[in-house]
Amino acid sequence: MSLAEQALSYVRAISPYQPGKPITELAREMGMPVEQIVKLASNENPLGMSPKARQAVEAAIAGVERYPDQFELIAKLAERSGVAPNQVVLGNGSNDVLELIARAFLAPGRSAVFAQHAFAVYPLATLVTGAELIATPARNYGHDLAAMRAAIRPDTRIIWIANPNNPTGNFLPYPEVRAFLASVPADVVVVLDEAYNEYIAPEERVDTASWLAEFPNLVVCRTFSKIYGLAGLRVGYALASAEVAGLMNRVRQPFNVNNLALAAACAALDDHEFLTESYEVNQRGKAQLLAGLQRHGLETIPAHGNFITFRCADAAATNQKLLQQGVIVRPIAGYGLPDWLRVTIGTAAENARFLDALDKAL
Ligand SMILES: *Cc1c(COP(=O)(O)O)cnc(C)c1O
Repeated sequence: MSLAEQALSYVRAISPYQPGKPITELAREMGMPVEQIVKLASNENPLGMSPKARQAVEAAIAGVERYPDQFELIAKLAERSGVAPNQVVLGNGSNDVLELIARAFLAPGRSAVFAQHAFAVYPLATLVTGAELIATPARNYGHDLAAMRAAIRPDTRIIWIANPNNPTGNFLPYPEVRAFLASVPADVVVVLDEAYNEYIAPEERVDTASWLAEFPNLVVCRTFSKIYGLAGLRVGYALASAEVAGLMNRVRQPFNVNNLALAAACAALDDHEFLTESYEVNQRGKAQLLAGLQRHGLETIPAHGNFITFRCADAAATNQKLLQQGVIVRPIAGYGLPDWLRVTIGTAAENARFLDALDKAL
């Protein structure tokens, strides 16, 4: 038997995650200067990182010979979320946190439920444990909670929900999510991934962390990769019952978030000005992009994050024509949506570059 055949069969069966094309890669392929490339493919913050976070990173360089201490960031997140520090678990990005949940609860002979067109990391985190993945059909491209509830089997240990969802942008009203939680057996973990939470209008946003007292099987995941602009530093977190958080901490690497990332995240939490500006740039950019897409009569899925998913006749060819003009968006055929593209909402200038390139591509 070959060496590769000795690897776990469920590991060999995994299709690797396909990230958005890096700017440097397109620059190499097209012989194009990086300055001419606009990347709207990974839902990153077009304003960069908060100036306060940058200062904090610079200051934290002085201490990199020491192992990191998560105390301050955990304390801050706990205070803001109204939970105890032992209910906060930090991750090397929220992807890490998702894996911790999977490792604590899944194994061969168990299963997890997720919705068609939902975030690709859920299948990955599930399948790597040898557990079975139960995919339920989407409703209007988003989660069908009734179908997910009905799909739960006695061996189901995790239900994955992204709200808003990526890559479709759908949003489930909070009362529906709450009713779903109440309907799920108490021994099944419900992961509510809120990576785009900060893009929900403040007056509409419900603090789902306040539901933890009632639902100890709920795990709320959030990230510093999106509105906080720290995707490259890798910080995310989970809010959970102390019991579940304790289990996640058993499988967590002790130093999974580095010193610079911890310092940046602490400072970013306090930079309200940057967060407000990021939110507003996203709102204006959404209107700008929707108007441009509408001019072409392109169908969009109602967008609730920092990206818009639109249908276009030949998505693969259109994507290629955009790349040739130095514009990177995200094809989502791998999510079962071969006729759709996902564009991240950028600055006004980036959005205009995209719309201009799209005019030429269509
Ligand atoms: C971007 C995203 C994340 C965040 O991933 P990180 O590992 O924190 O960078 C998590 N969930 C969803 C649905 C996302 O779109």
